[in-house]
Amino acid sequence: MGDADETTGESVKRTRPCPYCGTAMVHRHCEYVCPRHGVVFDCSDPFYG
Ligand SMILES: [Zn+2]
Repeated sequence: MGDADETTGESVKRTRPCPYCGTAMVHRHCEYVCPRHGVVFDCSDPFYG
């Protein structure tokens, strides 16, 4: 519930690869989320963006 994924193409979209595993991360609101590593960057992170 409330768990959008790329099939919706709305609140979540795949963007840059994870720096650890290379898997395309999900950009969700203020965070980049790797499916394997969880949140890798957020908007307070200097690498964000
Ligand atoms: Zn990863």
